[in-house]
Amino acid sequence: MFSEPSNMRILLSGKYRILLLFFLLWFFTGLLLFINTLFLKSNIQHQQLQNVERALNNYLETMNTLSSSPFSLHNRVPHEIDFIRLIRGKNQLLVTGGSNMAFTGLVGLDPTAKGAWVDLLHPDEDGSWLLVSKRLGNEDIIQAGRDDSSTGIPIYRKTVADSYRILFYAALICFCLALFFSHMMRAPLRILQRTIKQTLKQKNLLLSHDEREEGGDLQPIYQLLEQIFYQNRQLIIEMQGALDNVAHDLRTPMTRLRAAAEYALQSDAADPQSYRSALSDCLEESERVLSMLKVMMSVAEAEAGTMRLERQSVDVIETLKDVAGLYQYVAEEELITISCEGPEGLIVSADKTRLSQVWANLLDNGIKYGNESGKVEITVEKVNNQAVIRFCDDGIGISDTEINRIWDRLYRGDRSRTKQGLGLGLNYVKAVVEAHGGQVLVTSKVRKGSCFEIHFPLISSASIGKTEITD
Ligand code: ADP
Repeated sequence: MFSEPSNMRILLSGKYRILLLFFLLWFFTGLLLFINTLFLKSNIQHQQLQNVERALNNYLETMNTLSSSPFSLHNRVPHEIDFIRLIRGKNQLLVTGGSNMAFTGLVGLDPTAKGAWVDLLHPDEDGSWLLVSKRLGNEDIIQAGRDDSSTGIPIYRKTVADSYRILFYAALICFCLALFFSHMMRAPLRILQRTIKQTLKQKNLLLSHDEREEGGDLQPIYQLLEQIFYQNRQLIIEMQGALDNVAHDLRTPMTRLRAAAEYALQSDAADPQSYRSALSDCLEESERVLSMLKVMMSVAEAEAGTMRLERQSVDVIETLKDVAGLYQYVAEEELITISCEGPEGLIVSADKTRLSQVWANLLDNGIKYGNESGKVEITVEKVNNQAVIRFCDDGIGISDTEINRIWDRLYRGDRSRTKQGLGLGLNYVKAVVEAHGGQVLVTSKVRKGSCFEIHFPLISSASIGKTEITD
């Protein structure tokens, strides 16, 4: 039923995890390098522009000290600058620093253009020039430029090339880190796997203290696992108990059946009356066995959600009175009084047979776990659009620890073991009521008694009389 995950699958899932980790690490390394390159580019540009600006300021200062016009051609262009352009209205003067470039393109250059690594002819596009532009108080504008292709730009290009190289080597480091992290991430899972394997091998269904201590971050999972183990253990104990009960409950009618048949076979007298009586005993006992098996099958059906309901309009108090009548004799034997009260005409759409089984189970429990000389009160009332049916007894009651478990399949209360039962009744009651869209609740006090309350949706007068089969 259970198959161990194949090594291939484990390996494959591990592979994907490693690859994912690797790409994440590599992506972030690349991102960091990219951001670093951007910063560096802006730093280099800023610094180079500052150099040009400083050189231009020095140039202007020298002119001021010499009280010469910036247009005086004898002023020498500093070596940090390739050209200085002086613009007054439509007149321009170009002073170059000995560069052998063709400056004719400068005529059309916007006098106010400035920035780093621009194209002189198209200042909006990328190029290699550093441009600084200043207004000189009057209408004059002075603009300085320098070709950065042999100073700043090579530094930047080297940085980019270095970044690519680092990214290439980082791939290897990232892959190793991904392997390491993946291994680390799987460490608690490996411990968990080992623990479960050991637990399964020892068949003790309990995790040892040491294993739990080792669990670290997986403590919550260990706790859940322990809960599962505990629940399974309880279930096994209950199933063993239930199996004992079933065996015991089936043995009695089967022994009686066998005894009746044996007695009839051994009797010499060919008296048809005694054979008839033996056959009738056999029939009665086999009927009992059959009905027990039917309950078990119905419970299984209800739990599997495949219960078929033959719905019809049912008057609640009528079915209750019928069942109460059937149990009158049993109740009298225990000196218990049954009362059944409620208005007629509260109609529900229900499977009449199953509904009667529900009432029978609740009444049977009321008598079984009731007080000798006590009472079981059955009442019905209409609350909003529902029929509320109550079965209240003054018997042994149910403790707080047990009350949530009584609906479980095969559960039997500790103090109920002296009475006959399979622990299936309430489970069946709940399944049938819920299959009808109803609800069942219980309130109880130990040694004071219990009250089971069923809420059943009433049907509108228009749908009364219709029969319908539902799953
Ligand atoms: P069974 O009666 O065969 O044990 P049920 O499913 O009918 O199984 O009930 C489950 C348990 O709920 C019982 O074993 C008993 O402990 C508790 N119980 C049910 N009805 C009553 C009741 N009226 N008073 C006290 N305990 C009850």
